[in-house]
Amino acid sequence: MKPKVYFKTFGCRTNVFDSQVMMSGLQDYEITQDESSADVIILNSCTVTNGADSSVRSYISHVEKNSRARIYLTGCGAHTKGESLFESERVFGVFGQSEKSKINSLLKNEERFYRLGDLNFVDDAIVAEFVGKSRAFIKIQEGCSFRCSYCIIPYVRGDSRSLDEAQILEQVRILAGNGFGEFILTGTNIGSYGQNSKSSIASLMKKMSLIRGLRRIRLGSLEPIQINDEFMEIITEPWLERHLHIALQHTSREMLKLMNRRNKFESDVKLFNTIAEKGFALGTDFIVGHPGESEARWQEAMENIAHIPLTHIHAFTYSKRDGTPSASMNPEVNGGVSKLRMQELQSLINTNNFNFRQTHNGLLEVLIESEKDGFYQGYDQFYNKIIIQSDEDIRGEWKSIENYTILKENNYAQL
Ligand code: SF4
Repeated sequence: MKPKVYFKTFGCRTNVFDSQVMMSGLQDYEITQDESSADVIILNSCTVTNGADSSVRSYISHVEKNSRARIYLTGCGAHTKGESLFESERVFGVFGQSEKSKINSLLKNEERFYRLGDLNFVDDAIVAEFVGKSRAFIKIQEGCSFRCSYCIIPYVRGDSRSLDEAQILEQVRILAGNGFGEFILTGTNIGSYGQNSKSSIASLMKKMSLIRGLRRIRLGSLEPIQINDEFMEIITEPWLERHLHIALQHTSREMLKLMNRRNKFESDVKLFNTIAEKGFALGTDFIVGHPGESEARWQEAMENIAHIPLTHIHAFTYSKRDGTPSASMNPEVNGGVSKLRMQELQSLINTNNFNFRQTHNGLLEVLIESEKDGFYQGYDQFYNKIIIQSDEDIRGEWKSIENYTILKENNYAQL
């Protein structure tokens, strides 16, 4: 009987890819989706916010109470919380992302271990499947060479480096050959792809689009300054989703400076409106409550955001990260005030999203991803969720949907 391994993955799509690499690297172990039957639990952690750290800690407490499994910590949290969790013997082993391909031999260690490895390694793993997924996450880049003043990521993922292009294309070819049609390009700062290898994300996508079986490419988060003419040339290609996530983080000029962001409000307005005019839905990241976000700067930000055609938003309240420049900045913003500001922002964008779906109410190209309580769920080309009632199991299928109802929260269809 092979020992059973359960994967608990927190955080971003890059972590989803990394967990799949680890799953593919297990020869002498069996992967289980049932946590209670696991002999080993791999905790692929995130540390981007305090909330992420406490989720990891509370998950470890949950396992300690309910399971006899050995816990191993990896992911970005290994670099920030690994040492204290190892010394307090709450985890059996800690290993950095560069060690993940050695997982089969690491788990055989009878001695407890703490191995962070090389922060600037370049991933060379290729996977043939995505367990339990109908779409494939393709890691193309890792690390970040930006230095936003609030962000811990460059310190736990290293500086930006690109994966080998031939390897990426081979990765897509294998997964397309195994039936995947939708590919999500992921990394820490994917717009930096190709900077050290005379390539670019636009030219990579053009090469990917020639691969048989590829139907749609989705992109992780881009930085405004990375969207250049070459990228704008391919933006209306049929294989690219009609949604982009471009990280603003704030819309107050002063706050962008304080956060050491490279984007500027004036050029952001121009960029977003140019892309929206081509029929795109547009999402962004926004940090609310960063130190220095006075009421006046918040009002400025809300006035400014009205000029940016946003339909999706990942809004976060600022989370102090030890070791970042922002951690020593003042004045801090009261948590209650941050929450109210985030709600104000979220409701504005929810209204924008509803209005967008009403004006972009043509044919929807949907990949059905999951089923819950008899209803199926998928996302269309604008990255809007649609709930579908169907008597048949349509998971993993592509559907062109013309007749649907536009509800406040999402679209709805009966097939
Ligand atoms: S671009 Fe800024 S926020 Fe994004 S990972 Fe890099 S440093 Fe962090």
